[in-house]
Amino acid sequence: MLHPQIANFSATRHILKTFNLRASKRLGQNFLINAEVVKKICDAAEIIEGEDVLEIGPGIGTLTQGLLEVGANVTAVELDKKLPAVLAETLAGYENFKLIQGDILKVNLAEIMPKNFKVVANLPYYITTQILLQLLEKKLPISKIVTMVQREVAERMISPPNSKAYGALSIAVQFRSDVKIAFDVLPESFLPRPEVTSSVVVCEIKKSPLEISDEDFFIKVVRASFGQRRKTLVNSLAGAGFRREKILSALNAAEILPERRAETLSIAEFAILAENLK
Ligand code: SAM
Repeated sequence: MLHPQIANFSATRHILKTFNLRASKRLGQNFLINAEVVKKICDAAEIIEGEDVLEIGPGIGTLTQGLLEVGANVTAVELDKKLPAVLAETLAGYENFKLIQGDILKVNLAEIMPKNFKVVANLPYYITTQILLQLLEKKLPISKIVTMVQREVAERMISPPNSKAYGALSIAVQFRSDVKIAFDVLPESFLPRPEVTSSVVVCEIKKSPLEISDEDFFIKVVRASFGQRRKTLVNSLAGAGFRREKILSALNAAEILPERRAETLSIAEFAILAENLK
């Protein structure tokens, strides 16, 4: 079966008109209309025929079509109740596509995607960080995450210590993966156009991340440390409820000066600090 390509302005406008749809701002709907970008995202995902892919927010099926064409087995989770009827038509005839209508933050991913899989998505920007944190912290069998995010979020994901954008998201991403920005995408590649430039980010999940005995506690310490960015570590951690003597002895044992700020600590230093604070 020959499928008409969705990733262009006229096809997208035609689909929206036919189904009497308007892109919902509230749901972060900016549909891709650039076939070259769809191809580059699929290339970055390095799909092997028959591989399982989770797509978050398939929209009208633009990126999904690219993934299906390169042989991925796509399971997509879409919140918008109006879109299953659209996808049934735009992706009719593709056999390796399964749609789950629901909220990506609420579905049970361990149940839906039990075997090794990749995540490929043009994420809804209003919940990008929550989605990424859930994917990274839930210990799912993910080998790679390829996502379109706002350029500013991409910078936070790749930032090293001592840079302005370094924070809890940088640590969550870099602790679990080797991350890089693959390419930028200009607003005119979407309908409607977003206000900012986007970036496609590739996270290769590490096979053996740093050993941490209690990851939940580690995450708690990282978040508490960045809670009040301009404060010293001692004050941030005390503000989050840790006892001052306990903090000082943990910092001393970890050989971290108490007047340092969270943004100067490497992931390894956070790990040692968390071990000592427990
Ligand atoms: N993949 C399509 C594309 O590239 O053209 C659409 C991407 S659009 C930026 C984000 C999509 O995520 C929309 O279809 C939106 O309805 C969907 N979405 C928003 N919030 C969601 C949620 N909590 N769970 C699942 N999908 C969601």
